[in-house]
Amino acid sequence: MTLSIATTSVPGDPAAKLSAIAEAGFDGIELFEQDFTCFDGTAEDFSQLVVDHDLKIVALQPFENLEGLEGSLRRKSFDRLERKFDLMKALRTDLLLVSSSTHAEATGDPEKLSADLAELADRAAKRNLRVAYMALPWARYIRTETEALDVIRAIDSPNLGLGINSVFTLADGSRPARIKDVPGDRVFHVQLSDAPAVDMDLRHLAQHFRLLPGQGDLNLAGFVRIIARNGYSGAWSLDGINEVRPQSGAKAIANDGYRSMVNLLNRVGRREPDVTFDIPTLPERVYTSGFEFIEFAAGEKDAEALTALLSSLCFRMERRHVSKSVELWRQGAVNIVVNTEQEGFAHSAYVQHGPTVCDMGLRVADAATTVARASALGTPVFSQPVGTGELDIPAIRGVGGNVVHFIDEKSDLHRVWDIEFNPVAATVATQPAGLRRIDHIAQTMKYEEMQSWLLYYTSTFQMKKSPIVDVADPSGIVHSQAIESPEGEVRLNLNGAETGRTFAGAFLTDQRGAGVQHIAFLTDDIFETSAQLAASGFQRLTISPNYYADLQTAFGLEDAFVEKLKHWNILYDRSGDGEYFQIYSVPIFDGFFFEIVERRNGYDGYGARNAPIRLAAQMKYKGTAEKLGS
Ligand code: MG
Repeated sequence: MTLSIATTSVPGDPAAKLSAIAEAGFDGIELFEQDFTCFDGTAEDFSQLVVDHDLKIVALQPFENLEGLEGSLRRKSFDRLERKFDLMKALRTDLLLVSSSTHAEATGDPEKLSADLAELADRAAKRNLRVAYMALPWARYIRTETEALDVIRAIDSPNLGLGINSVFTLADGSRPARIKDVPGDRVFHVQLSDAPAVDMDLRHLAQHFRLLPGQGDLNLAGFVRIIARNGYSGAWSLDGINEVRPQSGAKAIANDGYRSMVNLLNRVGRREPDVTFDIPTLPERVYTSGFEFIEFAAGEKDAEALTALLSSLCFRMERRHVSKSVELWRQGAVNIVVNTEQEGFAHSAYVQHGPTVCDMGLRVADAATTVARASALGTPVFSQPVGTGELDIPAIRGVGGNVVHFIDEKSDLHRVWDIEFNPVAATVATQPAGLRRIDHIAQTMKYEEMQSWLLYYTSTFQMKKSPIVDVADPSGIVHSQAIESPEGEVRLNLNGAETGRTFAGAFLTDQRGAGVQHIAFLTDDIFETSAQLAASGFQRLTISPNYYADLQTAFGLEDAFVEKLKHWNILYDRSGDGEYFQIYSVPIFDGFFFEIVERRNGYDGYGARNAPIRLAAQMKYKGTAEKLGS
């Protein structure tokens, strides 16, 4: 089995493509001829370059419009084929992808089509080459793998087999069962890519909206399962080009591609004991049962501002690190770590981004296997020197360069607060405000990075994604994608900003890169919490009175209830019986803020209808703060 990727999927010149592909972990390429055409050298040179990267060319493509032609057109198309065979010999690859004809002058006469494809098989046999014939859904006559298979079976040549593409098979809404009778030994090549579930012309969709496995909505696991179970043993080739999506670099795309393929094949292999794929062994996707901690990197001054805000949220500084300038602030099950060290990872994060969330800790059943899975998927493992008396807590790099640590109960890791920290005697009695745990964390990133983050989370952890919600910021659009663990213990919002002018976009510019922009705490009684926070000097975001008039109309709320919301600047949403309440802090640093939420009756959204109101209030606050020169 070969894990392959189409050279069109990765940007850059041929050498850059090959090195990104090889480094990501692939062992083969599906060579798009144009990538050879623009190569400065002979076919032999190219072939050598491929070998030097420990890769092989699993197939050459494209070859179109061969069958169904007459007279000189026919002669010309077969001459073209022979020249392609010459090139394949020079490139030392033996498989050509031929797609069914879209030629305006091709005939649909079944005997003629069959005779041409038989000649194709003959000529390939004479050259000791093979052809994978692939039905294009928009071809003139042969449009499905079943139609192609009928012809291939009738010809019955070992040199002619079937090429299958997951988008062609599934994107029209077909189930994978459509290919259940395709014998594995007749399949010569399989292309894998995902696509969104949208009702769109298949050609347009396939050409412009192909995604990496796991990023779209197709049942690729079912598709791979059937093909593998039927005995297919050729290459699995990632065909994930997407011309519309803004391109990140070659390396990032190749790494994402590898992660998406291994994740997919691993998922199938797990449920299908008779099928084995030649991929690294990796533990199952990891169940996360909560946020153990959030760590801020800050300078002295910023730490003062941050801890003042935490105090006003009724957090208490409970512990201090045994040897480092690190404090633990706590309320309910929320642990906030404030790190003002002058060296180490947190300090570098501070130097690069300014005050920022540099690290988060997730609770898992087994920290070591979590890291094993992430690293088998190509995620770099993180480590820094461990001081005396400190635990070596397993960690990986998140997508934006920040760090994710894993805390389990299998080892001493969950005792980190006792082992590495000393308790601090309380000087003032702090009355908690009822913040129980972290409800969600929102990470802001460039829109083009969103798919990458999504893939990272969903391939490593047992998390499911919700549909993307577009939020209108007064200065542009922010795309918001929620992902959650099965029981909602870990909820993340990935927010992709398109312009620097949005509140989220400004955060990206000021922070110099992606990061956590807000953290939401969960309370069981928003009004009681609100009263506590008012008493402790918490500075909340002021919401326009017009919002409350609109709210009353939209949901038919009681006067007294709306008055209460308005009095405390609480935002409200309802979905069925579920109710959601939100309070926001004013932003600090480069636009970071806290949120306090209450969920009633199983409300499981994030108050998307209120996001424009919140953003407008934040922009207004920012404008006022800038005018005041603060
Ligand atoms: Mg939120």
